[in-house]
Amino acid sequence: MRVSVFGLGYVGCVSAACLADMGHEVIGVDVNQAKVDLVNDGKAPVVEERIGELTAEVVRSGALRATVDVREAIMGSEVSLVCVGTPSEPNGSLCTAYLERVTEQIGAALAERGGRHTVVFRSTMLPGTCLNLLVPILEKHFGGTAGVEIGVAVNPEFLREGTSVRDFFDPPKTVIGELDPASGDALLALYEGLPGEVFRVPVPVAEAIKYADNAFHGLKIGFANELGAVCQALGVDSHQVMDVFLADRKLNISPAYLRPGFAFGGSCLPKDLRSLVHAAQRADVSVPILAHVLTSNSAHLQRAVELVERTGRRRVGMFGLSFKPGTDDLRESPLVELAERLFGKGYDLRIHDANVSLSRLIGANREYIETRLPHLAQLLADSVEEVLDHAEVCLVGTRDAAVLSALPHGGADGPVIVDLIRLPDAEARRAEPGYVGLAW
Ligand code: NAD
Repeated sequence: MRVSVFGLGYVGCVSAACLADMGHEVIGVDVNQAKVDLVNDGKAPVVEERIGELTAEVVRSGALRATVDVREAIMGSEVSLVCVGTPSEPNGSLCTAYLERVTEQIGAALAERGGRHTVVFRSTMLPGTCLNLLVPILEKHFGGTAGVEIGVAVNPEFLREGTSVRDFFDPPKTVIGELDPASGDALLALYEGLPGEVFRVPVPVAEAIKYADNAFHGLKIGFANELGAVCQALGVDSHQVMDVFLADRKLNISPAYLRPGFAFGGSCLPKDLRSLVHAAQRADVSVPILAHVLTSNSAHLQRAVELVERTGRRRVGMFGLSFKPGTDDLRESPLVELAERLFGKGYDLRIHDANVSLSRLIGANREYIETRLPHLAQLLADSVEEVLDHAEVCLVGTRDAAVLSALPHGGADGPVIVDLIRLPDAEARRAEPGYVGLAW
């Protein structure tokens, strides 16, 4: 099929490259010329496992190209996948400005194009957004009826940054919210060959499923981290507890997100929880559990600050800055917040994150770092050794092999190792005098 993908961020660029790899002819569209240029040069605009090689391959073969021209993309495709961002507004509500703008542009371009076209929204949006906000915009600019003259569907994305290419090819499920059956059929054809169960549901149900998933993931992480903190205070190894807890598949559930570790973050869970709680409050629905998942997460981050404070040392080397290992994404990263708190308290900080360095080098994250994190930019070091030379305390929030192999042991004279994520050799390190772990 000929497909256009709007938004070449974490979701869009992975979807575009993977669909091209599946044999589709894909045009990526973004308002950001730098991202478009990167893709046309065969480079991914994000740092993720396999995405660099895959983008190079499909651009070389001609299956993927990118443009800033919406009209060109619409004229050359039968399906549009909308993957633009839906960040939080300052009051926690969902920002739909990018979705509205791109829907206007697609509608206007479709007015010039004859023949069937299906518009598929992959961005996360609250139930009702598609039918009550976006469909009227599309119809106004297109000049016809959605579901009749053009197809519309909501198809939420379930990939996880860090493993996004793998997740694309092996999704936990495919959810198709179809306005008209022909749109659902088009999506089935697009994803033909991918494993996992397919659910064809009404549009608002598809929108809501994504919130159910993300709220539950946040809840699971908060639950595991709170349990971990209590176990630690009582001298119990929380991972041993969870090993047994998770072995019980009759009453309990999948082990994903249930290992005590560091706080969660990223561009999805926090903002999706905020907008869900905001929507509930506006509807006068009391949701005390959901409303406190982010409070629990903040309390966990504070525990990490306290661990560093308790070492009594001032020169801190931090390993990891992105919101989780395996990605360069810094949005709402709990490690960024931890760095900011320590920096604000006057700690002498140096930070290493190989994915962030690589992303800065190719230009993908440079603007974000310069505009949002100028105070941390000066603390970033490209080499592990530079940070180790500096550190009296090593704060470890990454599983990067280069860091793990260089990390000293926590002897009485060396740096204190503050393990935020339960390192693979945590069991052995635990007996060392200079080791403290957040996730015991
Ligand atoms: P992102 O911010 O990384 O990318 C969005 C892209 O859209 C940007 O490159 C931006 O320049 C582009 N854009 C904005 N307006 C545009 C327009 N009019 N035309 C073309 N491009 C435009 O966002 P993301 O992390 O990829 O997330 C996209 C959506 O998918 C969000 O709704 C998010 O909640 C959801 N989602 C994200 C993830 C994830 O892991 N990041 C997972 C599942 C779902």
